[in-house]
Amino acid sequence: MAGIHIHEGPEFGIGDFVLLEEVSLNKFMENLHLRFEKGRFYTYIGEVVVSVNPYRPLNIYGQDYVEQYQGREIYERPPHIFAIADAAYKVMKRKSRDTCIVISGESGAGKTEASKIIMRYIAAITGVSGQKEVNRVKDVLIKSNAILEAFGNAKTNRNDNSSRFGKYMDINFDFKGDPIGGHINNYLLEKSRVVYQQKGERNFHSFYQLLSGAAEEKLAELKLKRDPTLYHYTRQGDSHKVSSINDRNDYRSVQDAMKATGFSYKDAETLWKIVGAVIHLGEVKYHTEDDQVVVENPDQLTTIAKLLAIDRDMLEKALCFRVVAAAGEVMEKGHTAAEAVYARDAFAKAMYDHMFTWIVGRINEAIEVKRDVVQHGRNTVIGVLDIYGFEIFDNNSFEQFCINYCNEKLQQLFIELVLKQEQDEYMREGIEWQHVEYFNNEVICHLVEKPHKGIMAILDEACLNVGKVTDVMFLHAMDQKLSDHKHYTSRRLEPADKTLEHDRDFRVKHYAGDVMYSVIGFIDKNKDMLFQDFKRLLYGSENAMIKSMWPEGAKGVTEVNKRPITAGTNFKNSIIALVENLASKEPHYVRCIKPNEEKSPVLFNETRVRHQVLYLGLLENVRVRRAGFAYRMSYVKFLERYKCISSSTWPTFRRGAEKQGVDIILNERGFGQDVQYGKTKIFIKSPQTVFALEEARAARI
Ligand code: ADP
Ligand code: MG
Repeated sequence: MAGIHIHEGPEFGIGDFVLLEEVSLNKFMENLHLRFEKGRFYTYIGEVVVSVNPYRPLNIYGQDYVEQYQGREIYERPPHIFAIADAAYKVMKRKSRDTCIVISGESGAGKTEASKIIMRYIAAITGVSGQKEVNRVKDVLIKSNAILEAFGNAKTNRNDNSSRFGKYMDINFDFKGDPIGGHINNYLLEKSRVVYQQKGERNFHSFYQLLSGAAEEKLAELKLKRDPTLYHYTRQGDSHKVSSINDRNDYRSVQDAMKATGFSYKDAETLWKIVGAVIHLGEVKYHTEDDQVVVENPDQLTTIAKLLAIDRDMLEKALCFRVVAAAGEVMEKGHTAAEAVYARDAFAKAMYDHMFTWIVGRINEAIEVKRDVVQHGRNTVIGVLDIYGFEIFDNNSFEQFCINYCNEKLQQLFIELVLKQEQDEYMREGIEWQHVEYFNNEVICHLVEKPHKGIMAILDEACLNVGKVTDVMFLHAMDQKLSDHKHYTSRRLEPADKTLEHDRDFRVKHYAGDVMYSVIGFIDKNKDMLFQDFKRLLYGSENAMIKSMWPEGAKGVTEVNKRPITAGTNFKNSIIALVENLASKEPHYVRCIKPNEEKSPVLFNETRVRHQVLYLGLLENVRVRRAGFAYRMSYVKFLERYKCISSSTWPTFRRGAEKQGVDIILNERGFGQDVQYGKTKIFIKSPQTVFALEEARAARI
């Protein structure tokens, strides 16, 4: 394969897809596959890094590698994720601009690992003066991962350590370029997992860590036994042992990380008590006596009440009744058996979810930028986004719908920014711009988010009519309003479509593929209702930390907002805000690819990879980048690199006249027609010119 092989031999393929001789899916795949086989897991598209999950530990993230990439330009070294981290850091420091690194890809593609590698790189290249506060901030930023992963990650069928929440982290830097603080935003924790797991999956790691790792006395205090198969909430997936995970050791690391992050001993105690209380809640059983639901195993309630420092009788009441305010009167209404189970599970989910939010808040307190630090001079930010990737399961519900919508939004941002960035550069350099055709997924974003007409709006409307509208009625409402939308289908609209098995399925044609959603549960999950009694109960906890997690419990029965914002709308708004935030920063991209479903370091599944290459829009990315120009370099750098191939420029050429020097070289070689001269950079049209220049250079040195 011909090509530019800076620092790597031709046997490793091409380090930048922009320099492929021919832009086609086959050539792209060939190169990616070759690099995978040769142990080259990173490849560029211009300044975008394509990263393939190696599924084995690599020896390329140590201090020796840090030194090779620190302060260098992207093309100076073989492709590496460090180079992108360094590029983001340089822009932030030199231009004093906020930057961000957006990491995308499907579940298990390596996003979270990439984000950690980036964080560690930034920690390695900063704070050389050894300032205590900078070191503390770096330490907290890195250690907080262990805590967030314990409570927010789980084993799924795709990934043993799958992030079940979205994470955006800002790192703030002072004028010297040292980290002085940060902030984490978390997005939609998949809390349904607390009470239900599909076959082969687990609850959040924290449950198993507690059961395996806690000392005997501690477990006895929580009235728990080690064995997770004893408990409803930890055994449903039938897969509590994971070979790649050591829950016992992880428990200890999490305890250490909490300590280092400034959690007090008591804070940690309370968190584990909540996890314990959740496990016990899953064991609460009901039966019906005289038309009234009663708890069958009241001892459980005593344990839960004790762990949460709440009133036992009030807990019992909240599980079996609800208090309603009607026409100014406050009444008690008994639950049906199904309602009681629903109330119990809702309570467990909400408690865990609020705890997670509290944890993030606590970490944020520890890394908050101190006022006196920012006073002198500027404060710039690098944001790192590691958010759940596009997901298709056998059974897709509201959670997958939200996650996939989020990915549509990020894809759109990518399209807009990559094109826009490119266009801006051409404008800046005074170069003509050529249009490239690409699929714009805006239409799918609209399908979800459009006011009144989008799926979220239709769902919210269905949720307004308390108790009357069923999930299936919601589906019919969508059919009516969306029947002519190209990206929406349901069984009712396409009776002949055999892929839609049930009358309760609908299909969205996402940019990344078709996904069938089962409408069952959409209304409940969107309403996300927790009876007020539970909120008041936890707000009344004698444990101040638990109380602080439930400020909304302060409200009385009659003052409760009748129409709280729905989970879907809440999520949609947070994602829109996220995208706006990212758009205001200078973006860098890492596009992660999963080579196989078996977590194998040797398998390269052509079909699966091709699919990802296509939907990530990587080919379009190459085309846009090449729209006319395969390669660009500043005059100074170009001359530095190629001055050896002309006697007019070798060994030195007049300073300040680099453009002229470049012109001499190119014309001597007969490439004058293949380039355009920007203000500071030379733009080269065909890769062949770059290859020829490289060959000429190689012949000289
Ligand atoms: P995602 O966040 O995209 O779902 P992860 O980052 O959790 O995926 O990666 C899944 C698994 O793949 C990791 O637990 C690890 O075993 C492996 N992996 C990912 N990236 C790397 C890497 N750079 N080096 C070694 N193993 C990796
Ligand atoms: Mg992840």
